[in-house]
Amino acid sequence: MTTKISVVIPLYNEEAVIEQTYHRLKNVMEDLAMDYELLFVNDGSKDATPSLVQELSFTDPHVKCLVFSRNFGHQIAITAGTDYANGDAVIIIDADLQDPPELIPEMVQKWQQGYDVVYAQRIKRNGETFFKKWSAKMFYRALHKLTDVEIPVDTGDFRLMDKKVYNELKKLNEKNPFVRGLVSWLGFKQTALAYERDERAAGETKYPLKKMLKLSMDGMTSFSYQPLKLASYAGVALSGAGFIYMFIILFQTLFTNTTVSGWSSMIIIQLLFGGFVLIILGMIGEYIGRIYDEVKDRPLYIVAESYGFEASRINSEAVPILHL
Ligand code: UDP
Ligand code: MG
Repeated sequence: MTTKISVVIPLYNEEAVIEQTYHRLKNVMEDLAMDYELLFVNDGSKDATPSLVQELSFTDPHVKCLVFSRNFGHQIAITAGTDYANGDAVIIIDADLQDPPELIPEMVQKWQQGYDVVYAQRIKRNGETFFKKWSAKMFYRALHKLTDVEIPVDTGDFRLMDKKVYNELKKLNEKNPFVRGLVSWLGFKQTALAYERDERAAGETKYPLKKMLKLSMDGMTSFSYQPLKLASYAGVALSGAGFIYMFIILFQTLFTNTTVSGWSSMIIIQLLFGGFVLIILGMIGEYIGRIYDEVKDRPLYIVAESYGFEASRINSEAVPILHL
């Protein structure tokens, strides 16, 4: 049996790049001389993306497509892709060509040398805003410090995973998945491949600040308890300081007459403390919200339509199979 590679490509309003991405991926995959599938996951796009992919799936038997019922988010889209993949290895790649498809042969080579996960590590990011580069850099380093799981820095989801790894990934079934962290958590033989992240080929970023914050919170809360401990650390430090300040105040009350002139410092302390307590409450809320998601146990995503799959790969009867 020939080796098969599944390439998972999440799509959210990517009509501007989809053709170009398809052709570059196709060229690379044809040169590999292996069987392959291009598994597009349309994450509730509001533009022409789904019909463009549908067309591709009619003309090219290698193209498969899952169409979500709405926008569920990038991490969920790639999770769905790996759920439906059936290759001996799966490769996750962004649709905007920031992750160069030309790196795939090297990934496959490393995999054939015996590595189970080959992740692409950015040594340089081109064409992104200063804020994006800076916030990403800080986030990866903070996460690295706060967690015991070896999550490599400057590494996104562009990676190859052996079947045994992505089969384990499927079992985790987390409701707010931080896929790159989960893959690190799984272990196995992992290696890095350095690359320069290109500029987006066309279109705008689909990761506004709100989605970036959600992703970083998912990363933090899934892989570290440290933020929850913040309250106890701060509590110890502040009550220590309060205890010392108590003696100062006692001294002033007993031996001087300057105690009433403390209004501004009182207000400042109150505002600072109020803010601090709310931040900690919010942090606890982030964890509780995620616990609530796990308890509700709703499905991670809803597939409304699918194209290009054999009937056996679609596991729910509710899914209309429009094209076989
Ligand atoms: N994406 C998605 N769902 C979303 C947002 C993004 O499937 O809700 C996809 C998007 O189409 C792209 C990938 O995730 O293939 C990465 O998004 P983008 O390139 O916009 O993020 P950036 O590179 O700017 O961080
Ligand atoms: Mg991008």
